[in-house]
Amino acid sequence: MALRRRRIEVTGVVQGVGFRPFVVALGQTLGLSGTVANHSRGVSIEVEGEPERVAEFERRLVDEAPPLARVSTCVATDIQAREERPGDMVIVRSAIADGPRALVPPDTATCDDCLRELCDPADRRYRHPFITCTNCGPRLSIITDIPSDRPATTMAGFPLCAECAREYADPADRRHHAQPIACHDCGPTLTLRDAGRPLASDEEALAAAQEALRTGRVVAVKGIGGYHLACDAASAAAVAVLRERKRRPDKPFALMVADLAVADSLIEVDETVAMALTGPDRPIVLARRSRVGWCARAWPPAWTSWA
Ligand SMILES: [Zn+2]
Ligand SMILES: [Zn+2]
Repeated sequence: MALRRRRIEVTGVVQGVGFRPFVVALGQTLGLSGTVANHSRGVSIEVEGEPERVAEFERRLVDEAPPLARVSTCVATDIQAREERPGDMVIVRSAIADGPRALVPPDTATCDDCLRELCDPADRRYRHPFITCTNCGPRLSIITDIPSDRPATTMAGFPLCAECAREYADPADRRHHAQPIACHDCGPTLTLRDAGRPLASDEEALAAAQEALRTGRVVAVKGIGGYHLACDAASAAAVAVLRERKRRPDKPFALMVADLAVADSLIEVDETVAMALTGPDRPIVLARRSRVGWCARAWPPAWTSWA
């Protein structure tokens, strides 16, 4: 049977979201050969195989795209077949192209798989504060250029250790080609500073920050998109200090809670609020406060505020 080869140009949010590994896995599943590359306008794919399998590939490319991907356009054209080995689908080097640039995906809250690993003492990323994978973690905040491979992110200064490099290179791994990954052996670490002076690092820094919050101090937490100023929202004195320093006498601060159950004790959680609070972008949500309980007593609360 004659082989068919297609070039497919995909634009939209298709970089930094695991799109290339998905393309490779899909191609291999269908026994197709070809290449996939990022370029500054999006992702370029060449795919070759039996015509109906190629048609199925094109359909599933859009229907089954990774959760964070948003395909804007997908244009396919026939090109000359090369009679490659079936199933030989590979990621090739990113190329620079002229024209409009690819869309950068937003930062995404830690996914359930990563949260599970974070809390698993047997996992090598147990309590790793910067845990991420192909489906979650920082994107917009760390990307410095397009195509967004690791050298074009703020993670460029943190070379992958051998184990992370193995995960990054393994098409079957859930961190295949995820640009922000790191672990306890490579990547950023925690430091606690007071007036610029480093006081503690790693677990000790975390414990000391918790203690500072408990004793009514304000802690500036450097996150992926800037600084959170945090204090104990249940402490009127701590909130007063934060209000004074921020020169924000009345405007409400955002509350940070561990889960929906805690949120439910403070605000009225209906289906829309619950969906927003647990969605992948974890936005600050405006909600009606509960009529009873802690909230009324401690109002105005201030657990966190964007700096
Ligand atoms: Zn994840
Ligand atoms: Zn590592």
